[in-house]
Amino acid sequence: MKTLLKNLTIIPVTEEGLHFTGDILIEDRLIRRIGDCSNEKADTVRDCTGLIAIPGLVNAHTHLSMTLMRNYKDTCSNLQEWLGEIFPIEDRLGDEEIYWGSMLGLAELIKSGTTSFADMYFHQWMTARACKEAGVRGFLSLTLFGDEEETRKRLSSIRLDDELDGDLLRRDLAVHAIYTCSEDSYRYTADWAREHGAIVNTHLSETKKEMTDCLEQSGMLPAFWLDKTGFLDLPCYVAHGVWLQDEEVKLLASKGVSVVHNPSSNCKLASGIAPVGHFRKLGLNVALGTDGASSNNNLSMIKEMRLAAMLSTVSTMDVGSLRPYQILEMATVNGAKALHAELQIGTLEEGKKADIVLINPAQANMTPLNDIFSALVFSLSENNIDSVYVSGRQLLDKGRLTTIDEAEVCRNVARCWEKIRKGE
Ligand SMILES: [Zn+2]
Repeated sequence: MKTLLKNLTIIPVTEEGLHFTGDILIEDRLIRRIGDCSNEKADTVRDCTGLIAIPGLVNAHTHLSMTLMRNYKDTCSNLQEWLGEIFPIEDRLGDEEIYWGSMLGLAELIKSGTTSFADMYFHQWMTARACKEAGVRGFLSLTLFGDEEETRKRLSSIRLDDELDGDLLRRDLAVHAIYTCSEDSYRYTADWAREHGAIVNTHLSETKKEMTDCLEQSGMLPAFWLDKTGFLDLPCYVAHGVWLQDEEVKLLASKGVSVVHNPSSNCKLASGIAPVGHFRKLGLNVALGTDGASSNNNLSMIKEMRLAAMLSTVSTMDVGSLRPYQILEMATVNGAKALHAELQIGTLEEGKKADIVLINPAQANMTPLNDIFSALVFSLSENNIDSVYVSGRQLLDKGRLTTIDEAEVCRNVARCWEKIRKGE
């Protein structure tokens, strides 16, 4: 089965400033050819004149089913207080809630041009099922908490592997954070991951309190504390990094560990502003994520790109601290690198997965286009997302979801949430 997308403006995100007019041939889930495909034959040929093709956005840190808790407990004054409200709710979530919460999140991801996401949550087998039905690429981490005993128990209950399909899904492992998990828990997880070839992730240096508590209790900064557990010697990515000090950033960069910047969540929970332009200059790979919809309160990488650009400018008082192209890299190729998946996704190149987003700029909010990269970071909106392909399968067609019944999902989420709130 071949699909040919013709007459696109293509932004491959392989080289700063590069865009050109051309075609994309999709075959067997892959981008088979990019450029002039006028001699190619295909089962489906689509004239895409006027549309812009970019790589599917990569949301490198989220908690997908937290869509259930969107706009809930929004007046907590900081992360610790908010977690105190959220954890008891999470204890009541079961398979059904996770499935519908995941479906809701997937609908939002597709409609905002995201084709891959890294999830850190529970009941991952239900998120996996939802991903396969919706057709979205997931890097799914079971979240581990507590001491070694608790970690051992959670790992032995892992039920995700039966749901993996080899193309869309990968099983990663997450240890929640250094303030909720013991040193032994990190060590045990590192050993387990090494044995099973798993890629690991964790929240790190999200708040000033996390950094100062770690210093007080161990005499070490969080990244150095984590390093002594062996966790950073694995293929690894960490979320937030708001309070990382230069020597920690250099340590992470030297170990090939990426940081996922979550600007909306960091603003909303008053955690601070990660100086990611500075991190980049120190050699760190910085990706972008939304965090959960409960601390954002949406899952749109489009909004995240714009906020990342704005915060970088205002926090450094330097308009050039992160250029629009660099922001687009953070949301695509850097996300792929963070997830150790850059050979499969993150750019539009021959041989990579056909994860492609088509943008229709011929609307009021993007006219006139002028600088195409500025337009993508500062003017783009969800209503401009025309089509989304993941592994060549079309999940969005002229703004309409093709694999998800959105009204049915919203009804079921409302029903599940009502049950959870009542404590049934
Ligand atoms: Zn998070």
